[in-house]
Amino acid sequence: YKGEVVAHVFTPINQVDFAADIAKIRASGADGVWAANGSNEILTQLLMAYGGAGRRAALFEPTYLLHRRLCWLTQTEIIERRLGPPFEIDGDAAAWAGGEGAHVVFVCSPNNPPGNTQPLDAVRSLASRSDGLVIVDEAYVEFGGESALPLVAAHPNVAVVRTFSKAFALAGARIGYVLGSPVVVEDLERVRLPYHLSALTQTAGVVALRHADEAVAGLDSIRIERDRIVHALSGIDGVTVFPTKANFVLFQPPGDAKEIWRGLLDRGVLVRDLTAVVPNGLRVT
Ligand SMILES: *Cc1c(COP(=O)(O)O)cnc(C)c1O
Repeated sequence: YKGEVVAHVFTPINQVDFAADIAKIRASGADGVWAANGSNEILTQLLMAYGGAGRRAALFEPTYLLHRRLCWLTQTEIIERRLGPPFEIDGDAAAWAGGEGAHVVFVCSPNNPPGNTQPLDAVRSLASRSDGLVIVDEAYVEFGGESALPLVAAHPNVAVVRTFSKAFALAGARIGYVLGSPVVVEDLERVRLPYHLSALTQTAGVVALRHADEAVAGLDSIRIERDRIVHALSGIDGVTVFPTKANFVLFQPPGDAKEIWRGLLDRGVLVRDLTAVVPNGLRVT
């Protein structure tokens, strides 16, 4: 972490402390750390720096809807490739993104809504086939799966984006961060607003990190519940359950998903209707 890079421009109170704390606790190996108001703001800033009019972002669908929306908001042209189950980026898909000359490539691992992780080889291959920035959205990585962080050292065009909204259950505090190369952090400093992260938010981040052990202590029970639900759903005739490392499970019921969604709601169970993203798909958290 290059504290002085952040320190000499518009240093909000605590920013240096906060970034240093993240770097320490993540033992990241990445020497660039940057925080903002939730990882969605980080993604927006990355698109402001690397996307924009006349530039293109590659998406692998199905994935997090905000990636598409933030491209649209920043006038970044979207090129997309739809993956079939098990929704893994294979060599062909990686070659496609490289061949299209994307300026930004989005990878979400564990992916939302499918829940699967992307092989590190796929991320490595995307990073080496492309001059563009490969954004790895790891909003759910604390629940399972391998982080792409170790790739940053050899591939400075990989940026790993994390959030306090999921495993830390602090969505209301609005804190996200990116771990990457110092070059990426310098580029983000060119597009962010002065004093973009309030002292109160940063203080909340520092406090949350000091209690990180307590936050992750609850994760085991979530993983056990997740696996119990996967197992139980798999035992129901005609249900397709997709492998997951996140804190949710995507499945396709045997009947009409919308009817089943309604039937569950009538019984006081709210699941997510994802039929617009995955055919007949429901997601239970
Ligand atoms: C929830 C989520 C985020 C975002 O969250 P913030 O609250 O803005 O940090 C980012 N990416 C994915 C894939 C998510 O599911």
